[in-house]
Amino acid sequence: MDSVFEPDLMQRWEMTVDRLIVHAERWHSTREVVGRLADGSIGRSNWATVARRARQVSVGLSAHGITRGTRIGTLAMNSIRHVETWYGVMGYGAVCHTLNPRLFDDQLIYMINHADDRWIFADPIFRAQLERLLPHCPGVEKVIYLGDSSEVPALPANAIDYETWIAEADPSLAAWGQFPERTPAALCYTSGTTGNPKGVQYSHRSQILHTLVSGQRDFLGLSARDTLLSVVPMFHVNAWGLPFIAAAAGSKLVLPGARLDGASVYELLESEGVTFTAAVPTVWQLLFDFLSENNLRLSTLKRVAIGGSACTEALIRGFRDGHGVEVLHAWGMTEMSPIGTISGPLPVSLGEPDEATRMAYNLKQGRVPFGVDLKITAENGDRQPHDGTAPGHIMVSGPSIIQSYFRDDKPAVDAEGYFDTGDIGTVDPQGYLQITDRSKDLIKSGGEWISSVEIENIASGHPKALMAAVVAMPHPKWRERPLLVVKLRPGQTATAQEFLDYLKGKIANWWIPDEVRFVDEMPLGATGKLDKKVLRAKFAAPVI
Ligand code: AMP
Repeated sequence: MDSVFEPDLMQRWEMTVDRLIVHAERWHSTREVVGRLADGSIGRSNWATVARRARQVSVGLSAHGITRGTRIGTLAMNSIRHVETWYGVMGYGAVCHTLNPRLFDDQLIYMINHADDRWIFADPIFRAQLERLLPHCPGVEKVIYLGDSSEVPALPANAIDYETWIAEADPSLAAWGQFPERTPAALCYTSGTTGNPKGVQYSHRSQILHTLVSGQRDFLGLSARDTLLSVVPMFHVNAWGLPFIAAAAGSKLVLPGARLDGASVYELLESEGVTFTAAVPTVWQLLFDFLSENNLRLSTLKRVAIGGSACTEALIRGFRDGHGVEVLHAWGMTEMSPIGTISGPLPVSLGEPDEATRMAYNLKQGRVPFGVDLKITAENGDRQPHDGTAPGHIMVSGPSIIQSYFRDDKPAVDAEGYFDTGDIGTVDPQGYLQITDRSKDLIKSGGEWISSVEIENIASGHPKALMAAVVAMPHPKWRERPLLVVKLRPGQTATAQEFLDYLKGKIANWWIPDEVRFVDEMPLGATGKLDKKVLRAKFAAPVI
């Protein structure tokens, strides 16, 4: 929309993501970018070198006739070469489609074909997997393996190793930017819990605004003094935007490669002096198991962002009391680029004299930054009050939030322009959002909603529990009742009654699950989240 009064007298500075890496190259050139290599050793680079090699990627793509707007897939863990690739692809105006290697073959085949990915950059460790997929993906013309020639011997004619490939490219020939900011930059597919996965295509503008929004002090608030370990993978909503935010802030960036076990993450945190990190709760559970088995402490870490699924009290206490680390509990989703809210304190929450009340604030998913607006609505679409008790559908709007899915003409927003996140929650008078469920995971007992997330959070605080999940079971009278599924800590045994007794007094009596089952393994989806579909299928028989 152009102003009807006067022309805009400020510069047309199109917000394209190449500006982020150019900024880091010019103003933080020697700040390190570090990554674990396939053999476990640590590779060291810096923002200037990453930018130079990203330019070589762009030149290589244009030399081979890749045009702007073409989708380029990546099937890779977080590494220096992967970061170079995504800046090289996006800077050039092609679209970087980060594929999640943990998905099933048929899901990946669907995504590659639906996106019409023309080239794929893949880690050598995923070679066998990719070679299984390619016969079903006729649109893919070329594969670049993110390694050197020794790592991927005997390649077919349409594949080459990254180092040999970029060696030919002259970085000075790269033409970055020079296209409108609403040009597509990146593509991610949602976890696809029902039906086919859906594509979310981010524009350059939406990515830059997400970077600025999430960089605010009460959000991720990264600085040039921070060392950032991006445990969250680039294939999970672009690592929550962290490689963009690190370039904007000039932070040192650390990339864990394929090793996400407790020992390897601990080693990186300590040896690189990491001050900030981010991942889903399951990663931190693995780290804590390793720390307690080996009686170790975290000496440099100051803040950790935890999101993707609800953060438990045990994790917040473990980080805070055991290691002096502040937990930022974050909520968001692929459709939001992904950050929606973070549990930063307010004077009123900090000033609460009662520790339990302060913890209750910390456990909530948090408040919106400037750049995200949110409403909660009842079934009929009316806005619910912000009283901390009335639950509703969480609807969001903002410049980094989806308008329509990729290759789908229908708008994904309501008449007011708000997107329905599929999450259910409350907002309290201080503006703190609390997720009580996914709408499809809601338990409706006798017409009233029971929050599976809240019961899980309390049950997972039981000293014998490693993980807890609550799912709805059919019931003849109440229609649905909660069933608690528990994975115990190694070596522990427990009875159902112990867990039911533990919950009593902490939740309303009618929320107490009707039954408790113990499992050896919790089913986890491709982004490390609990897969309730599997649990529902497994325990499908009525409990009563
Ligand atoms: P994804 O698009 O794969 O990142 O999944 C997004 C979904 O994960 C959200 O819609 C929520 O249901 C869930 N989620 C993300 N963060 C949280 C959180 N902090 N607490 C509870 N659920 C979360």
